[in-house]
Amino acid sequence: MKSKNIALLGSTGSIGRNSLDVIDANRDRFRLVAIAAGENIKLLQEQIKFFNPDRISVKYKKDADRLKNLFPDKEFYYGDRGIEEIVSDNGIDTVISAISGTSSLAATIISIRNNQRICLANKETLVAAGELINFELNRSRAELIPIDSEQSAIFQSIGANKKEYLRRVILTASGGPFFRRNKREFSQISVKEALTHPTWSMGTKITLDSATLMNKALEIIETYYLFNLNKDQIDVVIHPQSIVHSMVEFIDSSLIAQLSWPDMRIPILYSLSFPERMFFENKGLNLSDLKKLDFYPVDTDKFRSIELAYYVLDMKKNAGAVFNAANEVATESFLKEEISFNDIFDVVETVLHDEKFYPIRSLDDVEETIRDTKNKTANYIKRRKPK
Ligand code: NDP
Ligand code: MG
Repeated sequence: MKSKNIALLGSTGSIGRNSLDVIDANRDRFRLVAIAAGENIKLLQEQIKFFNPDRISVKYKKDADRLKNLFPDKEFYYGDRGIEEIVSDNGIDTVISAISGTSSLAATIISIRNNQRICLANKETLVAAGELINFELNRSRAELIPIDSEQSAIFQSIGANKKEYLRRVILTASGGPFFRRNKREFSQISVKEALTHPTWSMGTKITLDSATLMNKALEIIETYYLFNLNKDQIDVVIHPQSIVHSMVEFIDSSLIAQLSWPDMRIPILYSLSFPERMFFENKGLNLSDLKKLDFYPVDTDKFRSIELAYYVLDMKKNAGAVFNAANEVATESFLKEEISFNDIFDVVETVLHDEKFYPIRSLDDVEETIRDTKNKTANYIKRRKPK
């Protein structure tokens, strides 16, 4: 495999730090050329010293200016434009997309137009702008390889099989910390409880989304666009151990799955090495130690998120962008203890069901939808607060 020149977007986050581990263990194959982070300048400084990238982008100008004084031989950028600048470099062939939220959407379009490989952790990209991304992909030689563990599992399980052999995909969900909790107790759930994930260690937003199963809802939409499926080809099953990362069912009823310990470095490495495989130092899975793997149906009455995802796929147009933005505002509001855990479902459902959707023709349409929905959701939360 030719060595890769990588831009890592979101280097200070959970996926970002795992990606740096993978890059560091394979310095002969992977060269970190550029990084983008947000506000964690202390950690970013250490990363710059250790990995010596040429181009760096941060969220704010003041931090870019300060860093330039410390590292005068490097190029610094800032804001969403800064992310676009660093992926525009001709020397970059691979981008790891791991900034949370939607600030890297424009950069992803640039990467696609530059025929780069995009190793995609950021599911919001496909949820908010799936049709636009696929339109761009169809006109380019860029590759979109999933990092999200479930989508990586599906990608690996499909392998070289033709699409017409595929009957359906089955996404696994850990069920989060409240899989066994009675729905009547949902309104009492504290922020601390909601941020305790049973199997994965991740960023705050996705940990909370795993507790509401909004993460799985986002993944249903992500899967739909990533593999160009029909919505009735996507199912979800609860699998509390997070060992089977997802499955594919073929037309002859064979199920193919990918299994490993829950460790994001495995799908990150595969997204970089595909179609090859590379050595990964790991204790390996001993099935006889595990003894059993459990699977349960999802309680969609308790976790209304799942049905909202299928509603989004019925509506299409800008419904994904509305859903994602409403959920972002609702989760932030829960984290600030303004609304209860159960209110997250009510807020997202109300905003989504009230919306009249329109087709997405450009990134401006996506950005306008996000802005509008965030305002509407915040206003709705304010209006209903006294209840
Ligand atoms: P984190 O919250 O841990 O990290 C987010 C990263 O994005 C940080 O580096 C943060 O910088 C950076 N960032 C946020 N806003 C901006 C901005 N405006 N400009 C530049 N950088 C910004 O999130 P995760 O690593 O958990 O998740 C990242 C993405 O990967 C999400 O889309 C998530 O859904 C997806 N994902 C994550 C998984 C996981 O295991 N964590 C699994 C599957 C998908 P800083 O901290 O410096 O402010
Ligand atoms: Mg996932």
